[in-house]
Amino acid sequence: MGNQTSLEEIQSFKGPYPKQLLLLCLTEMWERFCFYGMRGILTIFMVEKLMIGEKTANLQYGAIQAFIYAFAFIGGLFADKILGFRKSLFFGGSLMVLGNFIIAFSPDTLFYIGICFTIVGTGFFKPNISSMVGTLYKEGDPRQDAGFGLFYTAINIGAFFGGVIMVYLAHNVSWASAFMAAGIVMIIGLITFIFTQRTMGDIGLSPQHASVPQQRRTIYEIAVYVGSLLSIPLILLLVRNTEYTDYFMYTIGIVTLLYFFFEWTKYSWPEKKKLLAALIFILFSIVFWAFFEQSGGSLSIFALHNLHNNLLGFTIDPNMVNNSSNTIFVIFFSFLLGLVWVWMAKRKIEPNTIIKFGLGFLFLAASFYVLFFTRTFADAEGKTSLNVFTFAYLVMTFGELCLSPIGLSAMTKLSPKPLWGVMMGMWFLASAYGQYVAGKLGAGMVSPNENASLMEKLISYTDGYKQLGIYALICGIVLIALSPFIKKLMGEVK
Ligand code: GLN
Repeated sequence: MGNQTSLEEIQSFKGPYPKQLLLLCLTEMWERFCFYGMRGILTIFMVEKLMIGEKTANLQYGAIQAFIYAFAFIGGLFADKILGFRKSLFFGGSLMVLGNFIIAFSPDTLFYIGICFTIVGTGFFKPNISSMVGTLYKEGDPRQDAGFGLFYTAINIGAFFGGVIMVYLAHNVSWASAFMAAGIVMIIGLITFIFTQRTMGDIGLSPQHASVPQQRRTIYEIAVYVGSLLSIPLILLLVRNTEYTDYFMYTIGIVTLLYFFFEWTKYSWPEKKKLLAALIFILFSIVFWAFFEQSGGSLSIFALHNLHNNLLGFTIDPNMVNNSSNTIFVIFFSFLLGLVWVWMAKRKIEPNTIIKFGLGFLFLAASFYVLFFTRTFADAEGKTSLNVFTFAYLVMTFGELCLSPIGLSAMTKLSPKPLWGVMMGMWFLASAYGQYVAGKLGAGMVSPNENASLMEKLISYTDGYKQLGIYALICGIVLIALSPFIKKLMGEVK
């Protein structure tokens, strides 16, 4: 199994980053290429190729996104209990490869089946690769947040190139070639992971207890694989009938909370308190993502109608800016911010997780206020400045960087090891709810008048953004006000 390196050796690395982190980053970069590439062409594929109406396509897009993130909880749970991170990753990655090849084989007929493979596959992959980053650090290592920052950069490099290349292939070569490319890229991701795991000692091996006979352990593992594959027809049904998504979302949240409290009772009081703190972060993150994910919905419509196409003197499609500016800003600033955290930690002035979360909301509030502010730059027709809009994305990205990588890191810091997968899964389940609520919020901002003028649309959207800005501000203030209480829950964790 290549257990030459001990955990102690891995975790006692010198310098700001452990060397295994780079390999995990590369693996995740390929996976995110595949995921965001698929996400980028999803709606246009449904509308242009499958000839589905825009409304249904949007609903199905939302359902697919919600299911993908919701399955992270299930993927995390089985990793904790039976498979371990490594086998989960391999299984998930293989399903993603399969899903993309299935679609590439016959995009018109096999699209939905392929997407279901991707849903289950990402569920097994995404939370567990994130947890593996946490395993590289000893408890209390102040360099961990920076590590997740670098991981986040890799996520966004993959996301950026996936979006650009897959959309290009889809429009200029063929739909099949785009899905084929995603499958091939995921194979590269899996090969990268095979190399990665050789450097990881015992990290991520199956958690099943040695007292369980080998044969039984194998049976459990096979049961997980088979059970996951058998769930695909059910997922297919849920994705195709979006009215079921509501029921699914209501149920999974309650089931997850019940499960959380069932596990919670098994731990000591200090551990219980940390888990409660993690739960608070998860709940706040739902609000964050619900606002942030306007980017895929209402902000893309805003970009379509209400923006000039001039960015710092260059002519550019505002929707291109809407789709890519966030990833580009993350690539530029995440690494930098990570180093700032390490620098501050050395001087003992690094803000703790709660304050970082609070800052995340304050940046988010400011960004929505800037979006509101775009109305003051509007011309008589109702079109406004792309420069100001892009500036809002810059501010929003800083919010994301204070919350998203820090949240990933916090899940591993605040949870006992046997619950890492579950907690990471819950973190992503919050994203599922965020996506879900985002769609509803966006729909609420649409001007009631079908034939509204551009000016009316501008007013309607920017009014909505002002509201979101106010709520984000309140969340930031509440978090910072609660910080002494949450700090107590977190014990020694910073
Ligand atoms: N953009 C990040 C990623 O893809 C975070 C996504 C999320 O949690 N909503 O990993």
